[in-house]
Amino acid sequence: MSKRPSPISATVDFDADGVQHGFLKLPISTDESAWGAVMIPVTVVGNGEGPTALLTGGNHGDEYEGITALMKLANSLRAEDVRGRVIIVPMMNLPAAMAGKRTSPMDGGNLNRSFPGDPDGSVTAKIADYFTRVMVPKCDVVLDLHSGGRTLDILPFGASHVLENPEQQRQALEGAKAFGAPYAMMMFELDAAALFDTAVESQGKVFVATELGGGGTSTPESLAITERGVRNFLIHFGLLEGEVEMPAEPQVYLDMPDASCYVQSEHTGLLELTLALGDTVNEGQVIARVYDMTRSGAAPVEYRASRDGILVARRFPALVNMGDTIAVIAEVVDSLG
Ligand code: CA
Repeated sequence: MSKRPSPISATVDFDADGVQHGFLKLPISTDESAWGAVMIPVTVVGNGEGPTALLTGGNHGDEYEGITALMKLANSLRAEDVRGRVIIVPMMNLPAAMAGKRTSPMDGGNLNRSFPGDPDGSVTAKIADYFTRVMVPKCDVVLDLHSGGRTLDILPFGASHVLENPEQQRQALEGAKAFGAPYAMMMFELDAAALFDTAVESQGKVFVATELGGGGTSTPESLAITERGVRNFLIHFGLLEGEVEMPAEPQVYLDMPDASCYVQSEHTGLLELTLALGDTVNEGQVIARVYDMTRSGAAPVEYRASRDGILVARRFPALVNMGDTIAVIAEVVDSLG
């Protein structure tokens, strides 16, 4: 049975040239607003023939590096600088972003676990469905800006995936490198089926993701990397004039071959990480200790690296629960893909 059209409508004309700021309007009916709408900001900058790029942030609401960089870009991008069309959605999951949370307070929805979505589902499922069936088909290339959010801190990298189509994989990898973060990653996902990434890639589009810091904040350094990366992405794919600006140090390539890169806690307690982001790790090395907070004088549980590599992500809060990812270890490689 085919799905009904999305209930979301746009207040902008995606086919018009010039700069437009508007909303993706999602009807809701709540105690606070009987005939209301979730109003997701969108900016469209169009200028004649050319490719279409979709730039998204706030897929997870507490990942501020991308949100902030795209809010700034929406304020500054001029139509005459663009060839083709740039669509900017700084906060895909607006209710989550407004609440400072990864997931939506309206339905508990984690947008990046809700694809392809459902026009008859929850608010979050409706947003996912709109992007899958309306936004992505308009686009040639998609840049989805993530970072660690409140519970993770992650090295800055552009990322792509291993794909069945080698040409699509090559273009995404070149885009991930051209983002120009200090690191570039061939990413292994724990569960890819319901990701935005997969919804875009399955339509044959070029998809680049990022991780750019974390802790539920941004810093001058993380924002500078993000803003430069967005600009580099648009230049690389022909939407802006100029030269891609790479980092001063040679970019480090990272690979995550399998799930053993993820170290997850089997204890609840106080977390001590013995390494900083970017540090080299050897297999068998103690990378973390978890202390039982109910008593003093008890030896902590040690967590050891199950592979060589560098620490690319870490849990940000000092308190850890069963199942939390404590650390992610990726391999440094000479080339990707
Ligand atoms: Ca994220």
